[in-house]
Amino acid sequence: MSALSRRDAGRMMLAPVVSSLHAAPAERPWKVLLVVAHPDDEYYFAATAYRIAGELNGIVDQVVITNGEGGYKYSALAERIYGIPLTEESSGRSRLPEIRRRETLAAGRILGIRNHYFFDERDLRFTLSADEALSEIWHCDSVRTRLRQILERERYDFIFTVLPRESTHGHHQAATLLALEAAGQSEEARRPVVLGAEPARAHETELFAGLPGFAASRPAHLQPDFTFDRRQSFGYQDALDYEIVVRWVIAEHKSQGKFQNDAGRHDVERFWRFAAGPRDAAARTAELARQLRRSPSAAAPARNPHHALSA
Ligand SMILES: [Zn+2]
Repeated sequence: MSALSRRDAGRMMLAPVVSSLHAAPAERPWKVLLVVAHPDDEYYFAATAYRIAGELNGIVDQVVITNGEGGYKYSALAERIYGIPLTEESSGRSRLPEIRRRETLAAGRILGIRNHYFFDERDLRFTLSADEALSEIWHCDSVRTRLRQILERERYDFIFTVLPRESTHGHHQAATLLALEAAGQSEEARRPVVLGAEPARAHETELFAGLPGFAASRPAHLQPDFTFDRRQSFGYQDALDYEIVVRWVIAEHKSQGKFQNDAGRHDVERFWRFAAGPRDAAARTAELARQLRRSPSAAAPARNPHHALSA
């Protein structure tokens, strides 16, 4: 089934006339690209990515724009593991890129990520400004070109990005803005839907109105389009949940000491759809949400060849 016809199928499944079980068309796996600034940002949608790659037999690839060298300040606990004085800025900045790449690949094996694309742009420092990365630090023309080439070749259904709030790292904002720009330049028939994600506590109800000054970041709605609950239980005596997988991912990023404290901190992943998107963006997103909502026990068994845990 072509991507286009599958999207049409998704639209049909939402229409009342074909909503019965007998009329449900066959499903084709989703194809998703994660576009993030830093080597551990897959955390924002880790459980959803795992669900898509491992249980819905989808394909998930990941672009990491920076080399992560700026994350040396909290690397003290990893100095003994790697035998390198990582908290010294010069050795941290020179050695962390390779270490963080390996950590990201290990986390990716847990999530079932097929391909990683490391763009190796500089991770200078924490900032709340998207402009610093967009106009000073990153080779944005190169990032744009590479993103466009990957989108053109792979024809993803979705791009997952970090929700670009004013309060989040400026690199996160910049990565999302570049992903939106690249998606917007894809021709309509192969344009991915771009979603912005944010991990949260279930009882928190946050709205998102876009990043001031960047019209492309306007969401379709203030409320999230859907929420994925990391606490959904499954397995023997319902004793397992997706939070376990998220903890594994966090643990792989050992060079990021402070990040380890995020284990157990968020229990849901919320997704906002950006207003700019292909014509079927709402229907496509609703169909993804419907498949994600199905009980884990009803999901197809993991047989994704890219998923290390299915071996
Ligand atoms: Zn980050």
